[in-house]
Amino acid sequence: MSSLEVRELRKAFGQVTALDTVTLGVPEGELAAVLGPSGCGKTTLLRCLAGFTTVDSGRILVGGRDVTALPPEKRRIAVVPQEGALFPHLDVAANVAYGLPRADRRGGRAAEVLELVGLAGYGRRMPHELSGGQQQRVAVARALAPRPPLVLLDEPFSALDAGLRAELRRDIRAALRADGATAVLVTHDQGEAMSMADRIAVMRGGRIVQSGPPADVYGTPADAWVAGFVGEAVLLPAEVRAGQALTALGKVPCPAPDTAAATVLIRPEQVELAGEGVAATVEREDFFGHDALLLLRLDDGTALSARVLGGMPRRVPGERVALRVRGEARLLG
Ligand code: ATP
Repeated sequence: MSSLEVRELRKAFGQVTALDTVTLGVPEGELAAVLGPSGCGKTTLLRCLAGFTTVDSGRILVGGRDVTALPPEKRRIAVVPQEGALFPHLDVAANVAYGLPRADRRGGRAAEVLELVGLAGYGRRMPHELSGGQQQRVAVARALAPRPPLVLLDEPFSALDAGLRAELRRDIRAALRADGATAVLVTHDQGEAMSMADRIAVMRGGRIVQSGPPADVYGTPADAWVAGFVGEAVLLPAEVRAGQALTALGKVPCPAPDTAAATVLIRPEQVELAGEGVAATVEREDFFGHDALLLLRLDDGTALSARVLGGMPRRVPGERVALRVRGEARLLG
């Protein structure tokens, strides 16, 4: 296993700049998520790392070794695709052993990685006898088997239903960690990136616009776009004076220098329904069971949202509520 260093990668397809000076570092044994909307360049980055696409300029170093000009097979980087990666005529054990040097196929590595992904004892099954989630587990086991210096995961859970995805994410993350793998996960799903990654690189228009630990990207997003892409955001015009933001929701602590006209970020989970506070009208409730998102409007016309825990009474449009903010507001750049 090795670290990954991507230096100023550029790639254009005709007039379209798919990668615009992308720089990214992933320390050995860590998982980085490249998170961004459709068309931002995620797949292109992954294909450049794997060697399926040549770069226009820049460098890719894996464990300090420059692989930029090497063909895919010389890079020994493993890719877990979205789905359908298994050989249908080979059983699970043979699928997993496929990537191993011939001499190692009889050793215990295939069984070891199958156990890592929670499929001990499944070696004799055929791919069509497995669920979609189990097939993806096998795909991860096959990727890990030859101990590649780097594992690339291309939206590996996108074809699976939501309930299955959460469990699979946890198990695959644990398997990668147990094996010490250095990995890059490409996804447009912020929940997937947040829950799995040590570090998130947010991509937009071919550029990495922010990178850092998930809590930092969520808590202190670089700008309003990142704030809204990684979660629900309440963006309010504000004046900041002596560490307090003066907003339509009242005074909220804000660790920032004084400024007359700014935009601050508050997350909906910071907006509480209280006995007294700023008056608002419920416009809609999006109910999710474990919690609900209330779409609200203040009397001055400001629209915002509040996240309330499940088990609270359902709210109906037109209902009047009072709001209070918990925690700090973040000044956006
Ligand atoms: P998605 O999540 O939809 O897969 P993405 O973030 O992976 O999107 P890319 O597939 O990397 O985005 O595409 C980035 C940009 O480069 C897009 O504008 C796309 O149209 C363009 N592009 C990608 N591959 C090619 C190609 N082979 N030829 C021409 N344009 C391409």
